[in-house]
Amino acid sequence: MTLPQDNLLRYSRNILVEEIGVAGQEKLSASSVLVVGAGGLGSPALLYLAAAGVGRLGIIDGDRVDATNLNRQILHPAANVGSWKTASAAETLSAFRPDMPIDAYPELLTADNACRLFDLYDAVVDGTDNFPAKFLCNDAAVLTGTPLVHAGVLRFGGQLLTIIPGQGPCLRCLLPDIPAPEDSIGSARVGIVGAAAGILGSWQAMEIVKLLTGAGEPLSGRLLTIDTLTGAINVTHVPRNAACPVCGDDRRQHTPLSRSDYT
Ligand SMILES: [Zn+2]
Repeated sequence: MTLPQDNLLRYSRNILVEEIGVAGQEKLSASSVLVVGAGGLGSPALLYLAAAGVGRLGIIDGDRVDATNLNRQILHPAANVGSWKTASAAETLSAFRPDMPIDAYPELLTADNACRLFDLYDAVVDGTDNFPAKFLCNDAAVLTGTPLVHAGVLRFGGQLLTIIPGQGPCLRCLLPDIPAPEDSIGSARVGIVGAAAGILGSWQAMEIVKLLTGAGEPLSGRLLTIDTLTGAINVTHVPRNAACPVCGDDRRQHTPLSRSDYT
């Protein structure tokens, strides 16, 4: 594969980075990434993946843009309140990268569509905002063997883990069961400062760039936590759990996934 001349110019600052080079840029151009959720995490992730020169992006989100989204979901201009997030995101990204095909799925990720969609992409970004959806992303990634960059964000910080099926631990290695609804704290209760979502979503895009080009060491088996309020960044080793219900030696989760497991 040879990059067109205008792409050599557009991506010259990527190509100058020793770990990427022309070969890495060609890998990015030949790659596809699905982003689940075009919200606080998905907005910066999608923008930086488009900017990096990823060949094709998929966006799945079943929500419409709401005024309360605008403090952090930077893909969506105020004029798009009321529009499908997928349409709003595609509009912004198309202006930014007119050459890039975008697959927009204005629907929720469910147990019925997750594995089929994950199979269509080289890697997936989890930009969801609730535990059932995050565990669904995790399980579909493991079952389809698709690398997934998980992240969560609230208030001033969040966490991130890259899941490489067959190599490193998955989310259920850390937390086997989906927390009960009364144990989950959502942004509607405690809020999110937009820049915190920007940091975590941008870091997700960086993990994808590393995975697709082979640069550096992915945060697989290493849980990143960031608290911007204190400035603390920690990386904690997390081992694979042989008793994990999804990726362990005696896994109980098999395809097809069941909707009742993610409510
Ligand atoms: Zn696991």
